[in-house]
Amino acid sequence: MRPIIYADNAATTKLRADALEAMKPYLIEEYGNPSQSYSFSRGAKKALKEAREIIATCINATPEEIYFTSGGTESDNWAIKGVAFALENKSPIITSAIEHHAVLRSCEFIERLGYPVAYLPVNTEGKVLPNTLNNIITERTRLVSIMFANNEIGTIQQIKELAYIAHKNGAIFHTDAVQAVGHINIDVQEMNVDMLSASAHKFGGPKGVGFLYVKSGTHLISFMSGGSQESSKRAGTHNVAAIIGMAVALKSSINEIATVQKLYEEERFFISKLQDAGLVIGNDFTWNGDHKEGNHLPGVISLSFKGRDGEVLMHRLDLKGIMISTGAACDSVNTQVSHVIKAINVPSDFETGTIRISFNQDTSHADVEAVADALLMALK
Ligand code: PLP
Repeated sequence: MRPIIYADNAATTKLRADALEAMKPYLIEEYGNPSQSYSFSRGAKKALKEAREIIATCINATPEEIYFTSGGTESDNWAIKGVAFALENKSPIITSAIEHHAVLRSCEFIERLGYPVAYLPVNTEGKVLPNTLNNIITERTRLVSIMFANNEIGTIQQIKELAYIAHKNGAIFHTDAVQAVGHINIDVQEMNVDMLSASAHKFGGPKGVGFLYVKSGTHLISFMSGGSQESSKRAGTHNVAAIIGMAVALKSSINEIATVQKLYEEERFFISKLQDAGLVIGNDFTWNGDHKEGNHLPGVISLSFKGRDGEVLMHRLDLKGIMISTGAACDSVNTQVSHVIKAINVPSDFETGTIRISFNQDTSHADVEAVADALLMALK
């Protein structure tokens, strides 16, 4: 394979070597079904228990509050439909206009079934202002679902404040933390969230596995009917190796969170390279989202270039072996301007020129420089 510079870590990440090593025995020797009670399954069962404990510790939950799923999409679908369908009456739900499609499409689905859904606007930095939630929430609201950090522009929401408003009105608070888990510290108790979605492949774990944190006492119905796995709430034989890989990847990512902070510096360096080449923020490009340190995901840069086509820029960089994205990966077949870019009001002559670059801890300073140089060439 030709060498590449991978700058699309918000789409997915490379499997960590320690996660792969930890997974191997459960793919080869320890293949017993952890739901069986004979001795051969004991190893898998024990590993599953440990993985649950590790994950719970990583987000300050208890092991009983962690439910393994097939990834972020399932966790989001379950959180929304599971809470909606838990009650007989069709109580209102509030979400935001910039959620991932896993949340938006789930909300649209229940809306078609007669549940009232409100989509909160965001400001130009992609922030849901707590007041906008305060203004429309009522005591009838059943669920509020606001993402922890946005996958296209990286903006981190004021989750603690939003959860507080939800609880004050008796609603359950869910957050899609798929982009945030493993990249920034998350403490579910400190934030006081009731449900949180995560996906292993966003933090160096394998694809097709994730979890939903559900605070004890939160009423949601089971999503998958079948066996009694996951306290009879999510049936299906466990993907043992993947779950173990996820736990190891999460623990290692969290141990490295401090080093990820250097990515904020790399972002500033990247932008300064564009500016040194004569490009002016506001005139030639916009730097989207709240890009102050700590207010967005480290390493995620969303830019919109005036009069350009993000798709063309992406392909020009691809020819040079550099992988970036035009927006959400799941949107790559869709050349329309994303709902996030629309929601933050990127000017119409800039919006089609949107690209997302997402570095991670494996990205070297030389890589960052090479991506900036290649982008400048592509713009010429
Ligand atoms: N939520 C967010 C914010 C995401 O970025 C993604 C994936 O891009 C998902 C949900 C879906 O996660 P998964 O790919 O594990 O289904």
